[in-house]
Amino acid sequence: MPKIPMTTPIVEIDGDEMTRVLWQLIKDELLLPFIDLKTEYYDLGLEYRNETKDKVTTDAANAIKKHGVGVKCATITPNKQRMEEYPQLTEMWKSPNATIRSILDGTVFRTPIIIDCIKPTVRTWEKPITIARHAYGDVYMATEHKTDDAVWLTQHNKMSSIQSFARSCFEYAIESKQDLWFSTKDTISKIYDGEFKAIFEDEYENYKDRFESLGIEYFYTLIDDAVARVVRSKGGFIWACKNYDGDVMSDMVSSAFGSLAMMTSVLVSPDGKFAFEAAHGTVTRHYYRYKDGQKPSTNPIATIFAWTGALRKRGELDGNKELAEFANRLEEASLRTLKDGIMTADLAPLTDPDFNARVVDSWEFIGAIAKKV
Ligand code: NAP
Ligand code: MG
Repeated sequence: MPKIPMTTPIVEIDGDEMTRVLWQLIKDELLLPFIDLKTEYYDLGLEYRNETKDKVTTDAANAIKKHGVGVKCATITPNKQRMEEYPQLTEMWKSPNATIRSILDGTVFRTPIIIDCIKPTVRTWEKPITIARHAYGDVYMATEHKTDDAVWLTQHNKMSSIQSFARSCFEYAIESKQDLWFSTKDTISKIYDGEFKAIFEDEYENYKDRFESLGIEYFYTLIDDAVARVVRSKGGFIWACKNYDGDVMSDMVSSAFGSLAMMTSVLVSPDGKFAFEAAHGTVTRHYYRYKDGQKPSTNPIATIFAWTGALRKRGELDGNKELAEFANRLEEASLRTLKDGIMTADLAPLTDPDFNARVVDSWEFIGAIAKKV
């Protein structure tokens, strides 16, 4: 079989720990044998970020702006403990995701991957719930201060960014033909959250006709009411959240759907640039076991789907049908492997006992997918 050609590169952003190990494995076993893979490579592994004084992160974000499509591996956001683990670090570098988000000024959409053999904890959920997380400002760019008897926090957001957020959400709702919910706490935060609510209302005027003709709905409600409704819903909609709410709620929704390892994530900028990734982190505990010579059973599905998301989008933008079809085929092969009962350790306990799941390590699991492709 000749390899599938590519015309435009995908911005490939490498990362840390266990996901860095999986990254190479996915490329070697599932991509390079089939695709004449063209990427522009940026190493966001913590050591190289430190060597470049984090310039590589900004470069990677600008490359996504230029080429339109990126795929990112999970990366370490250093904290005090990491500063001890990596003594060569000259600074506690900022979260690469936060840097990329603020440069692209985009919105993050997170959607769980659902399969029949894994039932969500919330029994009423039948379809995925997509969380749209605003990716700019609030507590993530806040200034904090401590005085003798109090702690202080100042946060901001930009009208332009809230507008971009609203537009990305309405566009994505139309593209995926799903209802859009938006929630804040504007009864308490009358000015700050009130502005979010008002901007969404204003922007909606430009999308109303298209929503009505598709038979989809936009509705606003308070965050606590939204939480209660989400739990009683059947799923199949987009829930737009402010930055912090989206951070927290996406972890809740993904765990309730099954596993954090089954959650995909895409950053969409208002001018149509896409950065795909897995929602989970670098899976540190598994990496320590790997360094000890073990073969952990880390789930690569979300990272594989980050790649397929990027390949399909690249295929669509370039009119490269073969590439987009390959992405679909790789997703099908991954899901069929799970349906056949071959899975990683995080998923097996979520299936019925009579499903007879066989737990394998990441190498065997990716090998099984490769065979199906
Ligand atoms: P994490 O890497 O997502 O892992 C938390 C736990 O969830 C793991 O220990 C594991 O549980 C389970 N898990 C997550 N992904 C899994 C997978 N693919 N397969 C199987 N199990 C999986 O979160 P964390 O431990 O909070 O963070 C670790 C590092 O990742 C931190 O340095 C953080 O800064 C970084 N991080 C990066 C991103 C990003 O780049 N997008 C996002 C979040 C965190 P068990 O150990 O119980 O098996
Ligand atoms: Mg989170």
